[in-house]
Amino acid sequence: ISSLEQIPRAAPDRILGLTEQFARDTRRQKVNLTVGVYKDGWGQVTTFPSVARAQKLIDSDFELNTDLSYLPITGCPEYSSAVLSFLFGESCPQVGPRLLEEGRVSFAQTLSGTGALAVASKLLALFLSRTVWISEPSWPNHQNIFRSNGFTDLRTYPYYQNGRLVVDEWLEKLKTEVRKDPETRHSIILHACCHNPTGLDPTREEWVRILDTVHELGMIPILDMAYQGLESGNPPADAYVLRMALDEKRYKCWPNGLFVCQSFAKNMGLYGERVGSLSVVTPPAKPHVREHVDSQLKQIVRSIYSSPPGYGSRVATMVLSKSFLRMQWYKDVAFMTERLSQVRHNMHNLLKWPGLMNFQQQHGMFYYTGLSPKQVDVLRDKYSIYMTMDGRLSLSGVNDHNIDYVCEALDAVSK
Ligand code: PMP
Repeated sequence: ISSLEQIPRAAPDRILGLTEQFARDTRRQKVNLTVGVYKDGWGQVTTFPSVARAQKLIDSDFELNTDLSYLPITGCPEYSSAVLSFLFGESCPQVGPRLLEEGRVSFAQTLSGTGALAVASKLLALFLSRTVWISEPSWPNHQNIFRSNGFTDLRTYPYYQNGRLVVDEWLEKLKTEVRKDPETRHSIILHACCHNPTGLDPTREEWVRILDTVHELGMIPILDMAYQGLESGNPPADAYVLRMALDEKRYKCWPNGLFVCQSFAKNMGLYGERVGSLSVVTPPAKPHVREHVDSQLKQIVRSIYSSPPGYGSRVATMVLSKSFLRMQWYKDVAFMTERLSQVRHNMHNLLKWPGLMNFQQQHGMFYYTGLSPKQVDVLRDKYSIYMTMDGRLSLSGVNDHNIDYVCEALDAVSK
């Protein structure tokens, strides 16, 4: 008998498994509201105008267009400087540029946000921490990524209960548990905006308390910025948690590092191109720390995929570094965000059910309905409407053609 037979079947991915099932569904009225991919009002996945223009420019540039050689291990230098100046220049103008001048940010181009989290968790688990705190609920892949990369202790902090955020309970739990366990170095994943799946984020005042607690407890913050721009429609504005964390009057520094995992999947529509980054902000006056982190990032990347892909990062670099494209990009993000909030508003007006208390306060790509797994099953089996088991639906899959059907079905199952 083959030893391969000892391999147990892994659970299907909770989100992508549904997409496969959707593809097999032959009913005409089927609606896919599972994955967070933006679709326009006609149900099409679109290319942003800024991105399409960048692609044209690349197409017409012989050198850019024909260079299929390897990128450096941690990415293309032009991409690094464009993204660093977007993240730490434009998004954090008070402190960021000085951090860059002082050479305190270690940076790697990564395979989108997932790749950033994977490389970050690998580095952390190798040298700093194997305990991570994840919000309950959260994007299910957080657990998967951290476990796969060497974290042995995955804990959850209460985030949302009965339609509201529970920041007091969250911080109480951290204080009690982390203080009980001072020998352990604790990391924590913070959703920088548009929390997935709830769509609800702490207020600025609550963020001050959260960051104060994380800092006071000596935890390592990992900012997951997968939706920068989808809260306010303005990408730099949405980096407010990063700006707050870098406020040097409040937090002189993050002695164990501040990790920023960022993605252009959603806010540039570059999903399949896998374009993102990891930045590690290191403490001041310790240049060797940044250099050592740089070297370890290289080693990690080299051992997994050697170097990142080129094309998508070329597109992002072009969008970020040509000011007319960057301005167009901001318009594109604002347009997408406006449509998402319009859909949210229209659904709110059509739905008759009581589970709507925080619907209008939610933002981003999703509507967190509060439906139970059983109700989600009925929606799928009876109405061919697919959403994730946690009751999250992707708003952009709703459009003028299906909004009545979707809302009637939601009303019917929530009775
Ligand atoms: N973090 C969160 C919270 C997400 O929702 C996502 C996308 N679903 C990601 C990270 C990363 O996505 P990607 O790898 O496509 O950038």
